Amino acid sequence: MAELTCPLCHGRAAEGAEIAAARCPSCGARFAGGTEDPPTAVAAASESWTIETPDARLVADGLFRLAPDEPLLERLGITTDRRDGFYRWWVFVAEGADPAAAFSEAASHGLPRT
Ligand SMILES: [Zn+2]
Repeated sequence: MAELTCPLCHGRAAEGAEIAAARCPSCGARFAGGTEDPPTAVAAASESWTIETPDARLVADGLFRLAPDEPLLERLGITTDRRDGFYRWWVFVAEGADPAAAFSEAASHGLPRT
């Protein structure tokens, strides 16, 4: 049994034996991912939303560097679900927000690997 809470509205986004990419029933945010770490969740979301994301690792890194009051966090969030003994990563983008623009804004906060 897995359970996923929306990082944007804190409502229940999904629950069940398996979670699939969908929309948060509370706020309409799209979510996708379901992978083992943040960069692969960003990559999976990019594929799900058919956008180009040149560097998923940089997007994920940038997301974790954002201050809690950063306005971008009202449009873009990353979180884990809860399930027995492990968890998976999911990326959320607010309804009406452009995921490609949100990802590139997040990437601008990340530190490129040298
Ligand atoms: Zn929500």
